[in-house]
Amino acid sequence: MITETSFASLGLAEPLLRAIADAGYSAPTPIQAQAIPLVLAGGDLLAAAQTGTGKTAGFTLPILHQLSARPAQNPKPGRPRCLILVPTRELAAQVEESVKTYGKYLPLTSMVMFGGVNINPQFKALKARVDILVATPGRLLDHLGQKSVDLSGVEILVLDEADRMLDMGFIRDIKKVLAVLPKQRQNLLYSATFSDEIKARANGLLHNPGCVEVARRNTASEMVEQAVHLVPQAHKRDLLAHLIKHHDWQQVLVFTRTKHGANRLAEKLDKDGIPAAAIHGNKSQGARTKALAGFKSGEVRVLVATDIAARGIDIDQLPQVVNFELPNVPEDYVHRIGRTGRAGASGSALSLVDSEEMGYLKDIEKLIKRSIVRVEVEGFVPAPRPAASVDERPPRPPQQNRGGRPQPGRSDSGRGQSGRGEQGRGEQGRGEQGRGEQGRGEQGRAQAGKGGQPSREGRGQPGGSRQGQGAGKPAKAQPAAPQQRPGASGKKPRPQAALFSAKPGSRGH
Ligand code: AMP
Repeated sequence: MITETSFASLGLAEPLLRAIADAGYSAPTPIQAQAIPLVLAGGDLLAAAQTGTGKTAGFTLPILHQLSARPAQNPKPGRPRCLILVPTRELAAQVEESVKTYGKYLPLTSMVMFGGVNINPQFKALKARVDILVATPGRLLDHLGQKSVDLSGVEILVLDEADRMLDMGFIRDIKKVLAVLPKQRQNLLYSATFSDEIKARANGLLHNPGCVEVARRNTASEMVEQAVHLVPQAHKRDLLAHLIKHHDWQQVLVFTRTKHGANRLAEKLDKDGIPAAAIHGNKSQGARTKALAGFKSGEVRVLVATDIAARGIDIDQLPQVVNFELPNVPEDYVHRIGRTGRAGASGSALSLVDSEEMGYLKDIEKLIKRSIVRVEVEGFVPAPRPAASVDERPPRPPQQNRGGRPQPGRSDSGRGQSGRGEQGRGEQGRGEQGRGEQGRGEQGRAQAGKGGQPSREGRGQPGGSRQGQGAGKPAKAQPAAPQQRPGASGKKPRPQAALFSAKPGSRGH
C-alpha cells in the first residue's frame, strides 16, 4: 500500500518532512499521495478511505503546511483557524495527537475538546492561542453557547468519519456549527464508507470538491481475513473463551452490541482467566483511557467494546477482531474489521453468528460483495435446521435510520431504531442529555440470555458433531443464499435538498 511518491515530492514543508521521518514513514500511503496535493491546492475534498489507510496524516499534514505558510488573519485567543470535528472522544484525542506529532517542528498550537471531562481546563486552554481545534460536536456546542470559543476565523473545516458526522444523530449539531463558520473556507470530508445518502448530504456541504477514493466504496479491507462461526447466542461466551485459549490470542478487540453485553462478557472472560476490560459510553473517561492503555500495553488481553467506543481505537498491528454480535448496520461491520489490517498489516476478523443474525450477515455480504467463510468449531456446532427458516428475520419497523432493524432477541420491537435514532450516535459527553451511547438506552434491549434468548435456543448444544475443519481454520465457503427482504423494494429515499439550507455553498480558498 506504500506508493512510489515521496513526501518531499508532495511539496510539504521541511519541518513536516522532519516530523514524518521521525515517525518512521518512508513514503506516503495512497490516500496521502492523492489527498495531500488536493488539500494543498486549497479546494474542497471528499475522501473515501478505509480506516487504517493513513487518512489522518492525509489531512493533518497539508493543514499544518497551509496554516504555517500563510499568516493568521486577526489572531486571537480561542479563535482557531482549523476545526476538525470527529464523532468520539477517543478519535478526537488520537487526531490531536497526530496533529502534535506531525506539527512538532512548527510554531502552531492545537487543542482537543470533548465531553465527559471537566470543562474548566478547556476554558483555560481557550484563553491562549489555538490554531487547530479537534472537537466532538456536543462539547463544542457547549463552548459556543458559553462564548468561550470563536469560530469566525476557521479557514479549514474537517469532518472525520464524515458518514457518522452527517448521520441523523449528529446532523443538527453539525448544522449549528456550520451556521457560525465563515462562508469562505476549505471543507475536507474523510470517511471509510459513504452511502449514497451521506454522499448526497456531503455534496450539499462541499463546493466543487476533489474526490479521492483509495478503496472501492464500502469494500471490506482486503488485508483482513474474515470468517463466521455459526453458534447459538447462549454459547458465544464459551466459544470465545475457547478460541482465545486455543489460538493463544494475546490481543483481541471484541465488539458487542450493548454496553451491558460488553460488561458481562468482560467479566466472564476475566473469570475464565483471560484478562479483559470493557470500553463503552457508560464508563468514565478515566476508565476508558485506562482500559485502552492496558490493552495497548498487553496487560489487558481482550478489550470488549461497543461500536461507538471503538471508533478511533488505533492500535498498530492489532491482529484479531471478533464480532460477538453482528452489527445491524452493515457499514459498521466494515468499520469494525478495519480496526485490524491497518497500515498494510494483515489481520483477522471473526464473527460469532447466531441463526437469528443471518439476515444481518446477508446484508453485510451484500455490502462487501463477497460471502464470508463459515467455520464450525467442535462442540459449538448448531444443529441442522430446515433450509426454509434460514432467512427468517424479525420484521422491519416502518421507518428507520440507516437501515437499522430490531435486534435479535429484543423484546421491544417498538424501539426499532437500532438504538441510535434521532437521539444521536456520538458519545461526546453530552450523553447525559440523551445523546450518544447514553441515549441509546439499553433497558429495553433484551440481551440474549436475559429475556431475549433466541427462540430456537437449545439447538447446537456443546458436543455436536465436528463439521468444519477445526477451530479457526476456514471451512468451505458457503455462498450467501439469495433472500427476499420484506419491504426492500418499497424503500423510500429521504429528502436531501433542505439539509444544508441553513448554510449554503461554502467555498474554499
Ligand atoms: P489512520 O488511517 O490515519 O488511522 O492511520 C493508521 C496508521 O497508519 C496509524 O498508526 C499511522 O501512524 C500509520 N501511518 C500513517 N501514514 C503512514 C505512512 N505513510 N507510512 C506508514 N504508516 C503510516
